[in-house]
Amino acid sequence: MKITTRIISGYGLLIAILAGLVVYQVITIRRMSSISRTLSQINFQNARDCLQSMRDRDLVEEFTKKAFLSSDYLENLRMHQEDFQRSMRGLGSHANSGEEQEQLKRLSQDWDGYMADIGILQQNVPQRGPIPPNLQDDLDILKAQTESVYHAILQSMETTAKKTSKTAETAVLVLWCASLVAFVTSSLVSLLIVRSISKPLAHLTEGTRAIADGQFSYRLDSSRGDEFAQLARDFNKMTSRLNELDELKKDFVSHVSHELKVPLASMRETIQLMLEEIPGPLTEKQKRLLELNLQSGTRLTSMITNLLDHSKIEAGVMKYELKKQDLIPLVRNAIAELDLQAREKQIQLKADLPENPLLLECDSDRILQVMLNLLGNAVKFSPKNSSVLVQVEKVQQAPEGLPERYRGLIADSVADGYFGLITVADTGPGISDLDKEKIFEKFHQVRQGKQIAGQGVGLGLSICRTIVQAHGGAIWVEDNPAGGCRLMVLLRSGETGEDVVARSSAPL
Ligand code: ADP
Repeated sequence: MKITTRIISGYGLLIAILAGLVVYQVITIRRMSSISRTLSQINFQNARDCLQSMRDRDLVEEFTKKAFLSSDYLENLRMHQEDFQRSMRGLGSHANSGEEQEQLKRLSQDWDGYMADIGILQQNVPQRGPIPPNLQDDLDILKAQTESVYHAILQSMETTAKKTSKTAETAVLVLWCASLVAFVTSSLVSLLIVRSISKPLAHLTEGTRAIADGQFSYRLDSSRGDEFAQLARDFNKMTSRLNELDELKKDFVSHVSHELKVPLASMRETIQLMLEEIPGPLTEKQKRLLELNLQSGTRLTSMITNLLDHSKIEAGVMKYELKKQDLIPLVRNAIAELDLQAREKQIQLKADLPENPLLLECDSDRILQVMLNLLGNAVKFSPKNSSVLVQVEKVQQAPEGLPERYRGLIADSVADGYFGLITVADTGPGISDLDKEKIFEKFHQVRQGKQIAGQGVGLGLSICRTIVQAHGGAIWVEDNPAGGCRLMVLLRSGETGEDVVARSSAPL
């Protein structure tokens, strides 16, 4: 089912329940208010009529007795008889329970009995005196029946009040039940909606993260029947296109780099021959120009080598031949290789190396490549007339400055072994804390106002990190207390003795 359909139907159901609840409440409240209005009206009328009828009955009794003593009271008696009859009619018009009507009917019959008896007596016994016993009985019956009517009215009022309170109780109960149903439904609907959105969203986040990390082969599940399935299909289409483009780019870079490398090498060789004046003598100016040409050619070759290495790493085909060997001669070679370049900038390359050999399990070409890169950067970024210090130490513990993310990978101490720690310290512009991790990302270059002569394409340190990590080591940058920065490389001694171990880098 589509997410929008799910949301609309879920919340539609909820709104329907709430609307039903509101309608029911309005109807109940109206009913209750009409009942209580009627009840108060009836109560008032009934109470008044009942009291009136009782008073009228007392007056009828009083004037019946007086009329038998003197005919002067006959007129008053008739008036009070009419009043009593009016009160009876009033009570009859408001009587709504069966009991009330029954008692009123009896009262009316008793009244008729009284009226008949008094009529007969007045016609047949003209003399005056106390009222006859049968009339007194009529009056007593009338009194008792008036009270019975009064009790019936009270009973009816009580029943109506109970009915009203029962209706109110039912309304409260229905309100509770409906609120509970609404609460459970809304919780369920919200849970279902959140679940149906959060799961595919988490997959999408995972997918975009994988793409951001360069894993263009990542695919999302598109088998659902909702909008996320369409999104997943589009996402998969995008990633497969990105994958194709990435493959094309890799092929292009590796082919072009490879094709450029050969003619560039022959150009450098030709220049070298000319500089050695084998084809013929050169003027000083011509020599200087050719030297500049050779330097540019060397830089271009190093960039192409970096691009080729990067392609190899990306394809996961960068191979290492790990062998136990002394680190010191490797470092000395790197210093010697960069000595001329450093001297041209009046930079002194200082070395602080241990006397004894420092045996490590490593691929010598690759470690030399790392050293050349670090030293090359140090010379490139150092000001004229400064010095670059290369230090190599044999340590038993990982240094304090080792970034946290490496701590889990590299044991703090090596049981039977040791670490080789290489430090390349310069007094150049240094690297801000913000860039300390980023400079090891591919193509990342720190903007330092103007472009530094000889700055490459931002691949050198990324390749260094891949090489060092393939050796199970760590590479990071720290601030140099004397200004500038110092690049640190920590390599493990390894455990394989003289055997050669082949290893390859994980693809980038
Ligand atoms: P590039 O070939 O462009 O020099 P790198 O990967 O070797 O690429 O270096 C990446 C960036 O790190 C450089 O562009 C530079 O901004 C910075 N960087 C590297 N080494 C140093 C250093 N010793 N001093 C200052 N900045 C450096």
